Amino acid sequence: MPDIKKYDIVIIGGGIGGLMSAYRLLKKQPKLQIAITECGNVLEKRVCPAGKNSTCVHCKICNITNGFAGAGAFSDGKFNLGTAYGGTLGEELGEETADKYIKEVDNILNEYCTSDIPKVYKSNDALKLKCLQNNLRLLDMNVKHLGTDNNFLTMQNIIKSLADFGADLLHFYNCKSIEKQGGDYILTYENGKTLSAKKVIIATGRSGANFVNDFCKEHGVKTHSNHVDIGVRVEMKDIIWREFSEKIYEPKILYKTKTFEDRCRMFCFNQGGLVSAENNHGIITANGHSFAQKEKKTENCNFAILSSIRFTEPFDQPTEYAENISRLANMIGNGNVLVQRFGDLIRGRRTNEHRLMQNTVTPTLKATAGDISLVLPHRILTNIIETIYALDKVAPGTANDDTLLYGCESKYYSIRPVFMNKKFELIDGVYIIGDGSGICRGLSQSGAMGIYVADCILDNLN
Ligand SMILES: Cc1cc2nc3c(=O)[nH]c(=O)nc-3n(C[C@H](O)[C@H](O)[C@H](O)COP(=O)(O)OP(=O)(O)OC[C@H]3O[C@@H](n4cnc5c(N)ncnc54)[C@H](O)[C@@H]3O)c2cc1C
Repeated sequence: MPDIKKYDIVIIGGGIGGLMSAYRLLKKQPKLQIAITECGNVLEKRVCPAGKNSTCVHCKICNITNGFAGAGAFSDGKFNLGTAYGGTLGEELGEETADKYIKEVDNILNEYCTSDIPKVYKSNDALKLKCLQNNLRLLDMNVKHLGTDNNFLTMQNIIKSLADFGADLLHFYNCKSIEKQGGDYILTYENGKTLSAKKVIIATGRSGANFVNDFCKEHGVKTHSNHVDIGVRVEMKDIIWREFSEKIYEPKILYKTKTFEDRCRMFCFNQGGLVSAENNHGIITANGHSFAQKEKKTENCNFAILSSIRFTEPFDQPTEYAENISRLANMIGNGNVLVQRFGDLIRGRRTNEHRLMQNTVTPTLKATAGDISLVLPHRILTNIIETIYALDKVAPGTANDDTLLYGCESKYYSIRPVFMNKKFELIDGVYIIGDGSGICRGLSQSGAMGIYVADCILDNLN
């Protein structure tokens, strides 16, 4: 029997949730033995091998979404300074408590962000009204924008300080199981290693959905099947949305579609940004990001338009449903994301390379020109088209023929475990935080939940 290293607390997953938990625990109790185990690589070695033409090479563990600093490592670093969106932590803890923990995340960012003080965008009543007058609901909140580069450096600084505090940061540790033996938990990893912990924090994000699912099944934790959002990444000239982006940085807008009365949302806006491909367990989906530095800006902006679907009984596999739709896009797209001009979609024809070459909007992702209507179900496609026309009323030009749609983009929130208590314990001594809990959908709330659970554990230790 090999030596098993014993810890007070093992955190599974090195994203913002796990990092913030570790930070709080070690700041308050420096003697705690803590390990953060991460299935991906160290932050500095997280390099996507897709190369110049951005074609995904289907790594087993995606460097974009996995590794220290988590899914947000290469993100735009937009930190929502409130609870209006980005999860339901406010509903779970009460707005006041959730706001307090979000503020703590903000303070930690300020401490570790070495560059100039990042810009904070305030909410804007005039834009809110303009949207309301057009049946659109602008979700409004103050947002701190670090930008991809500053966000990366800030996360790097936080990780360094955790190592200085004495945390063991273990990369390529893909956790496979957690079992109780005596009073402790034994964690086994794909690399053959085994660790022991008195308490465990599961912080595995969206990419760890299967891990959480398996854990819940094995330990008899009930789960709710949540909804799934499916749609496209939309790209156009940046100037079309500049009125919004200059004032509030990131417009997030809800629309109730006319035909189906479904909820569609425009979000994840990237001013001067790039569309990117993301590998989710071999399925390639679209996403987007932007850089803070002026010289890295493109002349385009991009955002997601997603249609929310909430399944009812007997169907309980929303993630698989969304994955199959994305898989279909990859099948038609020769293993890649599809791109189609809005004008072609409306005229019922595919986009080809020739039409794409002549397009006034130059695609920032090398995707396969094709026909998204062959992939997306009628209901979802109708919702997306109606939303584009609705958005065109507040940002004229959104529904231009040359607007590009990349398919597919999905957001999964498939399972939401039933917690034992308000400490987000799944079973005695095993806690869950962040996106993987089904509660959070963003950096701020994931970080805030990490600090909150750390406080619950500290209360228990005292
Ligand atoms: C391209 C992109 C841009 C984004 N931009 C923003 C933004 O600007 N603002 C915002 O608020 N949100 C943004 N998000 C969302 C944000 O990144 C997530 O909400 C946030 O990272 C969730 O934090 P987390 O710690 O819960 O999970 P994650 O950041 O996903 O971290 C979980 C970690 O756990 C690891 N892991 C998974 N399973 C295992 C296992 N079995 N064993 C060991 N390790 C495991 C993963 O490798 C991962 O590193 C973006 C996401 C993406 C993908």
